[in-house]
Order: sequence, then structure tokens, then C-alpha cells
Amino acid sequence: MSGQRLFIHKGTRVFHSINGFQYNAAVVETDDLVLVIDAGFFPSDIEAMQEYVEHVRGSRPLYVAFTHADWDHIMGGQAFTGSTTIGSSQMDQLTEEEKKQRLTQAKDSLRIQYYVQPPELMFPKLDIKIDIDGQTVEVGDTTLTFYLAAGHTDESMMIVMNSHLFLGDYLSNVEFPFIFGDAHDYAATLLKLDQIVARHQIDWAVPGHGRVIRSQEELFQRKQADLRYLQILTEIDEKDWAKPLTDYYYIHDCPESRLIHQRNFRKMRNLKRDYFETRGGI
Ligand SMILES: [Zn+2]
Repeated sequence: MSGQRLFIHKGTRVFHSINGFQYNAAVVETDDLVLVIDAGFFPSDIEAMQEYVEHVRGSRPLYVAFTHADWDHIMGGQAFTGSTTIGSSQMDQLTEEEKKQRLTQAKDSLRIQYYVQPPELMFPKLDIKIDIDGQTVEVGDTTLTFYLAAGHTDESMMIVMNSHLFLGDYLSNVEFPFIFGDAHDYAATLLKLDQIVARHQIDWAVPGHGRVIRSQEELFQRKQADLRYLQILTEIDEKDWAKPLTDYYYIHDCPESRLIHQRNFRKMRNLKRDYFETRGGI
């Protein structure tokens, strides 16, 4: 039985995992290349993508891009041997200790949560490093555009290709904003979406987890919901810190999500309350 649901649109095939985390890995094809984005986490999911890529690739060059270096996004990369890898410079510059930690999290999660024996894991080595906002990579007539998107993590980035926007861990309908990086950066990245959409024709946006966004209207709705969540954290009193969790659409209320939310609250309350007003974000 397959552990993935497929969503196909204009040369993009999104492999939406139903094994866990509702993560979205993708394969994007043009005449010039085949690109794998965030190659997945569960060995059986990765195998299905690998088979698909082998089947369709032909003589086209293969690229693998990582929106960020969280363990659930990097694990599958090593399955695509002979590929050219792309990630942000910040991803490349993570310390050896941080890289090791991400791999340990991956192994622990597979073993402890899912009883799956993890394969030998290596942190991806990057061939192309993105350090400029809006940087492009051109292959034949195909253009990939990268936007630095710190906030979820410092090394996050978004990718535009073929009128599709790959968001990394932003605008999920199953996770509230996870601010593992800087709170200012997170809000700035959400606000930057306006510029990205203005510069590109975007039909679909693919978050790292949850349902694919199929219209600009839905994209802006999710952006507003996430900005509102951040803003509320700057306005509520200490004693009410957990309240936005109960107001927010998210998958479940559990100790892990409470911990992330509480850290978000601490980070956001350090921002000035007028942060959003001066930027006209809401
Ligand atoms: Zn993720």
C-alpha cells in the first residue's frame, strides 16, 4: 500500500505523505531538468519517489533542493545519487554539532515514534549555495528562483519554479507557525510573500506540511492567519499564553505543540506591539 497521496499540476508532482507529519515532497519536471524538493522522510516514501524519478528522468540532469535542514526535509536527499544539490549558505554553515543533531532527531523519530529502522544517514553536502535573496539558477530555458526565508529556521528558503511556490515550513494548515529562528525574521518572511507573488505568476503553493494551496486567495488567507497568530502573541498577557492555541486551526493540542507555542510567545513578546502596524501587514 502506498503511503502517499499524489497531487499533480503543470509538471509538478507533490508526494503528500500519509505515513506521518503530512509532509510534502515534490518532483518538478521540465524539458531541461528534474528537480526533487525536500525528498521526504519515511524510507518507503523516499523509495516511491526514487522509482518515479528513475522512470521519468531519461538523460535530463537531476537536482535536489532543500527548503531547510530540519530532519524531516533532508533525509531523502541521499537517495538521489548523481544529483546536484541546492540549499542556502546558512544551511551549509550549520555547525557540525547542529548537523549531527538533525540526523539524530531523524533516527530517533523513525525508531521511537514509528518503529522503523533508520538507514545510514548523512547530512547533505551542497553543490549550489544560495546566499542572495532572489538568486536564480538557470538550466536551459528553466529558471529556479530562491528567496531567503528565515524565521522558521535561520537557513530556510522558498523556491519558485514553473508558477509553483515551494514554501518550506510556512503557511501550513496543520501546524501553527513554528518559530525555531528569529521572531522578526518570521514576520518579515510572511510579509515578503506579497513581493514574491507580485514578481511571479503563482498558481500553486506547496507548504512543507498539510494541504497544497491552490489559489492566491487561499495563500493570502493562510498568510493573514499566521500573521494574526504572531500579532496576538504580542498582545496577550502572560497568564493567557496558551489561549491562541485553542483559537488556532492546528492538528492537535499536546505537550510538544504547547512547548513550541510557549517558546513562540516568549520570542514574540520581545517584539514591540506596534511592529505589525508600522508595516501595514494586517
Ligand atoms: Zn517540516
